[in-house]
Amino acid sequence: MSCLFCEIVEGSIPSTAVYQDEQCYAFADIHPQAPEHVLITPREHIGSLADCIEGDHALLGHLLWTAAQIAHAKGLTNGYRVVVNAGEDGGQTVDHLHVHLLGGRPLTWPPG
Ligand code: 5GP
Ligand code: ZN
Repeated sequence: MSCLFCEIVEGSIPSTAVYQDEQCYAFADIHPQAPEHVLITPREHIGSLADCIEGDHALLGHLLWTAAQIAHAKGLTNGYRVVVNAGEDGGQTVDHLHVHLLGGRPLTWPPG
């Protein structure tokens, strides 16, 4: 099965790395929606938040923790947003779980 973000994690498709460790890979979004737009994705293939199992608790916590660490490292002291789109109604377009970190400008609410 071919998966865009698996290929990005493996390095066969280039990306701009922001952070990586044994569990996750974070990289710049190709179509940034804010001055800072980073995607944090698990190295293992998980299709969606909706596909997570109980054993993924720690990994999910790690993804959020990593988003907060990146926000801190990027100096987003005025705030930022963390988003997970899940499934068709959630607007998910790449079927490999990822957390969006958006910051660097005021973000409006509610989302579209
Ligand atoms: P989703 O809509 O699934 O929540 O988010 C997918 C994100 O992946 C989008 O923000 C989109 O811009 C980004 N994206 C899609 N293809 C690529 C790519 O080839 N490289 C990078 N860096 N980001 C991508
Ligand atoms: Zn994948």
